Amino acid sequence: MSQKTYQICTRCVMDTSDPDISFDANGQCNHCSEAIRRLEQSYMPDARGQEKLEKLVEEMRRAGRRKDYDCLIGLSGGVDSSWLTYKSKEWGLRPLVFHVDAGWNTPVAEQNI
Ligand SMILES: [Zn+2]
Repeated sequence: MSQKTYQICTRCVMDTSDPDISFDANGQCNHCSEAIRRLEQSYMPDARGQEKLEKLVEEMRRAGRRKDYDCLIGLSGGVDSSWLTYKSKEWGLRPLVFHVDAGWNTPVAEQNI
């Protein structure tokens, strides 16, 4: 029975404790390589991203016509969902915002909610 040699990615923290990991010739793992590939396809902090966002918002407004809401937002009270909720109003959307208090709310989250 062969034993796998311990190796850690030269770019991230992943190592051979993950049975699905593989490394390229530079010692970079398949996981961070895939994440970077996906990021390049979906992260657009430029005019392309702005155009894509505007189309998405318009599509939500159109789908929401004659309805009470344009979209649904789960609000945890953390920075991401709080910011998205704020921006949704700035974009002119009518979100139905819901929150589930599972007993883990922080005081800041409560304030944001
Ligand atoms: Zn990696």
